[in-house]
Amino acid sequence: MSDEVLVEVEDLSRAYGGMLAVRHISFSIRRGQVLGFLGPNGAGKTTTMQILSGNLAPTTGRVRIAGHDLLEDPRHAKQAIGYLPEQPPVYRELTVDEFLDYCASLNRIERGKRRAAREAAKIKCGLGDTGKRLIGNLSKGYQQRVGLAQAIIHLPPVIILDEPTVGLDPIQIREIRHLIRELGKEHGVILSTHILPEVQATCDQVQIISKGDLVLNDSIEGLSRHMQSSTLAIALRDPPDLARIREIAGVKSVQDQGDGRLHVFYDPATDPTDALVELSVQNRWGLYELQPQRASLEDIFVHITTEEQESPKGTAA
Ligand code: ATP
Repeated sequence: MSDEVLVEVEDLSRAYGGMLAVRHISFSIRRGQVLGFLGPNGAGKTTTMQILSGNLAPTTGRVRIAGHDLLEDPRHAKQAIGYLPEQPPVYRELTVDEFLDYCASLNRIERGKRRAAREAAKIKCGLGDTGKRLIGNLSKGYQQRVGLAQAIIHLPPVIILDEPTVGLDPIQIREIRHLIRELGKEHGVILSTHILPEVQATCDQVQIISKGDLVLNDSIEGLSRHMQSSTLAIALRDPPDLARIREIAGVKSVQDQGDGRLHVFYDPATDPTDALVELSVQNRWGLYELQPQRASLEDIFVHITTEEQESPKGTAA
């Protein structure tokens, strides 16, 4: 079932002393979905991941994992979760096979089925021929694969990954992201990160958390719409009076950058590009450069998270 809801978070808060590190957040994750949980340092990502994985009690709120309430039925809820914390829990002095066998027993996989579970997890995580190697001798990228393998060995419907690519090199990052996308086809995955391109490369849903508040929850397509251009950078050899450009349908304002270079801001519903090109030809304005300016995810992120900082809500609870 591709639309099966696997994680339901309702009005979740967590206080440390008098400070609310996570404030009244609600969201859900479905099977087949990779949710990116994005936020600056200290935003509350790790706190949320620790609550979802059953390692930290919420102050208020409810979490259901695969239909099981995390507080009322922790055993079944936790069995439905695979968790890769920020520091992978791998034992450097064990071989990959020894470690995964140990994880299989911790996850209460029957003795007779442990070997098959281990081999299946290794294949999914690209660890096929590393079974006899000591974890301490593996590269950081492969150690991260072992961390992922321990998270999925018991075939949990939900996988929670806290900053899964921190400290990896670009090739390892690419491989781990590919692996996460593959896992996302069969599971519900939530991954926390402060790396913006990671979300674009890996996730289909994005949430931004800032100072404990959920300030954005959108699909990657929705996010792309936020990023759509509404500014043109143009260069004219013989620019007219700027009022002529302001009159073009859709144009909201024009900024002179000097040397015939202009920034034309427009209403996304009425793109003035065609009219601008035609008028330039008719009137010999000498248009020699025209480039849409896209807002980057970073622009959106900074905009959303700093807006939030400018109007802080009260702490307490
Ligand atoms: P980072 O990316 O830096 O790990 P984060 O988004 O994961 O940040 P959290 O680790 O969840 O953020 O922390 C959220 C807030 O709660 C921070 O202000 C942090 O200082 C505070 N905090 C976290 N753990 C504790 C704790 N055990 N006691 C007191 N305050 C804490």
